Amino acid sequence: MIHNIPQPVLEEEFTKLVEQDSNMILRKGFSIHAVRQGENEVVATVKEARSGNFHDIIARHLIACDGHKSKVREILNIPSEGEASNQVMMTIHFNANLRPVVGERVGMLFWIMDPLAVGVIIGYDLSGTQVHISQMDISKRPLEWWTEEMCRAIIRTAIGQDVPFDILSFRPWIFRRQIATTFQKGNVFLAGDAAHSFPPTGGLGLNCGLADVHNLAYKVALVHQNAAGPSILSTYTSERRSIADVYSKQSVKNGKQILALVQSLNTEGVEDITQARQNLTEALKNPKQRQKVDQEIEGQKEHFDNSKRLLMPHITVQFSRGARVPHAWISFTGSNRQGASKLRQKPIDVSYVTELTAVQVNRCQWSTLDLCNPNAFTLILGEQESRENPRTSKVQTRFQTINIQLNVWRLGIDFDVVDQPWFASEIHRGGLLVRPDQHIIMRISHSTSRDKIISFLDSHIGI
Ligand SMILES: Cc1cc2nc3c(=O)[nH]c(=O)nc-3n(C[C@H](O)[C@H](O)[C@H](O)COP(=O)(O)OP(=O)(O)OC[C@H]3O[C@@H](n4cnc5c(N)ncnc54)[C@H](O)[C@@H]3O)c2cc1C
Repeated sequence: MIHNIPQPVLEEEFTKLVEQDSNMILRKGFSIHAVRQGENEVVATVKEARSGNFHDIIARHLIACDGHKSKVREILNIPSEGEASNQVMMTIHFNANLRPVVGERVGMLFWIMDPLAVGVIIGYDLSGTQVHISQMDISKRPLEWWTEEMCRAIIRTAIGQDVPFDILSFRPWIFRRQIATTFQKGNVFLAGDAAHSFPPTGGLGLNCGLADVHNLAYKVALVHQNAAGPSILSTYTSERRSIADVYSKQSVKNGKQILALVQSLNTEGVEDITQARQNLTEALKNPKQRQKVDQEIEGQKEHFDNSKRLLMPHITVQFSRGARVPHAWISFTGSNRQGASKLRQKPIDVSYVTELTAVQVNRCQWSTLDLCNPNAFTLILGEQESRENPRTSKVQTRFQTINIQLNVWRLGIDFDVVDQPWFASEIHRGGLLVRPDQHIIMRISHSTSRDKIISFLDSHIGI
């Protein structure tokens, strides 16, 4: 099963949502020029590209999502950490219909081993848009070597068949990781590539950026609503930076493993393409060399084999503080039928997954994550706790007093878990108190007092 949303498509969807939301204003064609901070405000000076005019935007907080070369990060003088690298990569963006070429072998990544075009094609949309990524090897292929004509030769070789295509762009980038030493300075926050940038080997960059703002948005909202103290904002760096650090190191490791595979083919550094192709053929014929190549292919498992381990070996299902609520399929049937109407979103439709039967499609409509509304805290209670319900009302009263919404979901009463008893048994005699960004504030056991729950909440929101 492959579910890939190409980034440009996702960005279009987000743009539509922003345009439709009366709380947001989208202005294009402005670049950030200066940032000044007072005690309770940030003044961002932006330059309009069309007129060259400068405008001041005054706000309480500023979230800088201005990419890996972040001007805001530069203005605030926030240094970055990471290893130096001289590995330059080239991305060629092209459009072609690759469906007749790949046939049944549909995938997202296609490895190209031919010495002229060695690299990888990311099939964003196999019928239309793709990118080819390769090592630039500056000493043999300097910037002037990369012309549109050369890119056409590379893509023609990579496709291997006579398919029409256009080169849309080609641009170099440096294979390295960079993590800002802090993601916050006063009332300004860095998010996305402005805070952390690392190679795309792992597909974690945008995912990491989205999780940054997921973490930050409800905190800023609570401070603006006077429901939380400013100390809640200082948890942003500590919670997000450690994750970006793990993602960045894993991405570099994945990238190095890919380069090791390429090196095992005996083609690197051989300038004559005919000779390099001959080396490749011989390497694959030679049993000893072939074994090395096979080993290097096996070495990519950590990156691509997500059947058992997800993307990274150290990710396991956790119910501990700070972890995201584990996903389990849930249902609203029988007396719980009303539960679904309390959710904001429509059911998930997985009917396009041909591997699933009609019954399975029906069971995969709602996730435990859907219980967590982005505007509210959530209490998910296990079966026994739901029935006895001794502490919940006091906790709810506390939330009402501080004017923060709390949604309570009782297993066996408001929803059921589908075929995943581990979720029910983990929270059987207690439950989970969850932040609006779907992460666990605390795990409640049968012996957790209501005062302890309230003190955890108070300390999280800084009151
Ligand atoms: C080839 C490739 C494949 C990738 N594949 C994946 C993948 O499969 N999954 C994944 O999760 N990630 C992937 N990534 C990473 C992902 O693309 C980035 O992490 C993501 O785009 C970062 O988003 P961002 O909004 O933080 O920064 P950007 O996308 O860089 O956006 C920054 C924005 O800020 C604007 N800007 C810049 N300077 C200024 C200024 N001075 N003033 C105003 N605006 C400014 C820019 O115009 C741009 O619109 C891939 C990256 C590459 C290169």
